[in-house]
Amino acid sequence: MKRKINFQFISITIIAIVLSTVLSTAINYTVLKKEVIDDLKIYALTLKGTGIFDEVEDIPYHSNTNNLRITLIAQDGSVTFDNNADIRSMDNHDNRAEVEQARKQGEGHSVRRSATLGKNTFYYSVLLDNGYVLRVAKESRNITSVFVSSLPFTVAIVLVLVILCVILAHFLTQSIIAPIEQMAKDIDNKEVECVYKELRPFVSMIQSQHDNIVKVADMRQEFTANISHELKTPLTAISGYAELIENGMATDEDIIRFAGEIHQNANRLLTLINDIIRLSELDVSTEECLQFEKLDLFPMAQNCVDMLQVNAENHQVKIGLQGERCLVTANREMMNELLYNLCDNAIRYNNKGGQVYVRLGNSPEGAGWLEVQDTGIGISKEHQERIFERFYRVDKSRSKSTGGTGLGLAIVKHIVVQNHAKLELESEQGKGTRIRVTFPTVSPES
Ligand code: ADP
Repeated sequence: MKRKINFQFISITIIAIVLSTVLSTAINYTVLKKEVIDDLKIYALTLKGTGIFDEVEDIPYHSNTNNLRITLIAQDGSVTFDNNADIRSMDNHDNRAEVEQARKQGEGHSVRRSATLGKNTFYYSVLLDNGYVLRVAKESRNITSVFVSSLPFTVAIVLVLVILCVILAHFLTQSIIAPIEQMAKDIDNKEVECVYKELRPFVSMIQSQHDNIVKVADMRQEFTANISHELKTPLTAISGYAELIENGMATDEDIIRFAGEIHQNANRLLTLINDIIRLSELDVSTEECLQFEKLDLFPMAQNCVDMLQVNAENHQVKIGLQGERCLVTANREMMNELLYNLCDNAIRYNNKGGQVYVRLGNSPEGAGWLEVQDTGIGISKEHQERIFERFYRVDKSRSKSTGGTGLGLAIVKHIVVQNHAKLELESEQGKGTRIRVTFPTVSPES
């Protein structure tokens, strides 16, 4: 990665240098060209102004000392004067671009390339009053020669900058990837140094994701261990009773009793397996695959209370429903499960002669809520946080003797989260428990 970043950094620098050299050469050359033509124009107009070339027969100007070439072209295109060449060897100049332009517009210019010398000749012509064309010309370097002459400097600059880039790129990449390297060595280290503050959220996100993965893995491991343990107990009992019957060690009376035990433990196993399957279904179900609908919880709670009436009587507990129509947007099956689990717990963890109140209502803002309150054994403060964990029970023997799996409230919590509701628990040991679920406000059009 480091090598790749270094390489990219150096490549970008070289491309930038070469491009800027080429572009600046082109710009310089354009400026140079314009300056040369402007100079020639001044020379041509000055010479025209002196009137020296008006008398064609008697031109006193014979200088060929500087590199300014002066040519006088007659109306027919023949050259009548040139300070730098023998006019007898010169051909007709009428078709020269700058001469043609001067004849038409009074002034004209052109540039002709000499590839062999690496030079360009710049021409500027003006039309004189006598109909002759006065042309001045000058040689100057062309773009290739300008570029070639600057090449050694360009190469030297490229070399210096490349060395600088290698050094800079090394430090830069080092500071960018240092946090990643530190995390690779020790991902739990929360003191990872970030030179660039923009990397901080990235580092925190990776670390929190890692923490979550570890937490989930731990939870799964613990869950699997708990499942094995929970399954083992009823299976051991079933196996034990079956063995006694198999060995003929049970009397006829015992056989009936043992069959009852086997039946009870098998039921426990079934309930447990059902709850485990339900939890894993809830674990994988996403919002997209859930069906939410507008529901009135009141008739659903009424059904649940009716269904649990016999169960409550068996525990010598009274169960009743209070409240009003309560509209929520939720998953129907989940709401039935939620009501059942909360009411079932309120009956099972109650005292003889106790009460269970199922209440439904709406907040002033229009959010529906449901509450299950009992006058049972209650939960002490230290257990209140943990009772929603899988397989956490306050009183193991009571839970088991009443058919509990330790998963009911874990399922409740899952359902509450998936239905965007809020869960509140109030409980006092010996006095009772109140669990309230508040749903989001139902929008009128939904
Ligand atoms: P279980 O199947 O054991 O009832 P839950 O997940 O439903 O499992 O509940 C977890 C634990 O929380 C129970 O074992 C019990 O100790 C406690 N609990 C749940 N509901 C009540 C309640 N209404 N009153 C007192 N304790 C409760």
